[in-house]
Amino acid sequence: MKTLPQTGSTSRRDFLTTSVSALAGLGMIGALNTDGADPVAKSGAAKTKRPFTLETMPRIDVHTHIGNAWKTLDEVMELRTAVQEQLHADLALFIGLGRAEPPDLDEMRKRYQGRIQFCISDFTIKDGLRFSPQELVEWQKRGVMGFKFYPGWQRGVQIDQPANDPTFYAMEQIGMVATSPHVSNPCGTFGKRTEWFAEPVEFWRQQHAWENVLKKHPQLVIVNAHMLWLCLSDEQLDYLRYMLTTYPNLNVDLATVPNFLHGVGRDNLREFMIEYADRILFGTDMASQWFVPTLDKKLPNIRDKVPQYQRYFEFLETDKELPSGIKDEFKMRGLSLPLDVLEKIYFRNAMRIYPHIADTLKKLGYFGKEQPAKTAGH
Ligand SMILES: [Zn+2]
Repeated sequence: MKTLPQTGSTSRRDFLTTSVSALAGLGMIGALNTDGADPVAKSGAAKTKRPFTLETMPRIDVHTHIGNAWKTLDEVMELRTAVQEQLHADLALFIGLGRAEPPDLDEMRKRYQGRIQFCISDFTIKDGLRFSPQELVEWQKRGVMGFKFYPGWQRGVQIDQPANDPTFYAMEQIGMVATSPHVSNPCGTFGKRTEWFAEPVEFWRQQHAWENVLKKHPQLVIVNAHMLWLCLSDEQLDYLRYMLTTYPNLNVDLATVPNFLHGVGRDNLREFMIEYADRILFGTDMASQWFVPTLDKKLPNIRDKVPQYQRYFEFLETDKELPSGIKDEFKMRGLSLPLDVLEKIYFRNAMRIYPHIADTLKKLGYFGKEQPAKTAGH
């Protein structure tokens, strides 16, 4: 597929500019970025520039399922060392999303110097969201990163039902991030439907229900899991462009999506990643079976998952031809993204969006004597 013609890009930018002025009037400008201007630059975080290389830049995996057992968390640290030794890459920090309850958070900070962070989660929301506004406040005080929930893989989940509003409203008020909420499941287009979601009407119903939540709660800061599952075709990617352009507090993570992106034109995808670099965060689904399924079957132990990370790194950083990951029946070429885009995806966006990350990286010495800015808005 060819790169979009210039006229296409221009009209999309015009649309973006129009949206920006409309949103600015409503005080909703948030983290929206136009024409590559880095909003972080103004708040200071981007000034913490050291000449990072691929070897030295911190990489933050914002989407893992590492559970709450100390033995497993110790293994994550072993994996970090193995990745450093074998791939010369620094996985600085991991965010655990559940399903488990967070472990003792003080003990965790002591053991891992903040390299492992945790979220609270709700994976069965059919019966309503699990945490009351007061409980959210308490968990935030204890230092969790945010709240992960799963609005839809089961049929009939109605995330925009009014009973959920007090929880979302509380999250807006206290600035609790919606960490990797998982909306619907991968649904291909005609002839390429998936085993996960064969019914497009239900897929779009769930997508629109989620959009209703975004409309109603414009201050809610979200990092949707899996590129919001709008990444199985060029048309879906256009819809994701619409979502990111319309909702300035919406961001997406990359967990497990490299396994599905073979259906999107490489030039289109590469242009998308560069244009929305401020809104995309590195994540993998590590410790689930969906990190890189073909490799996870061979390498189920956490400490052995170096080749899985290598697959993600090569997809983002090189133009190598890579197997697609679920059954390896497709091939795709890596995106060879520019270094400044990789920095945003690997750590700068996470520093801006989540609590505790900027402070932790600073304490760990990633910025030398320079002072990274506090995360904005939290
Ligand atoms: Zn996940």
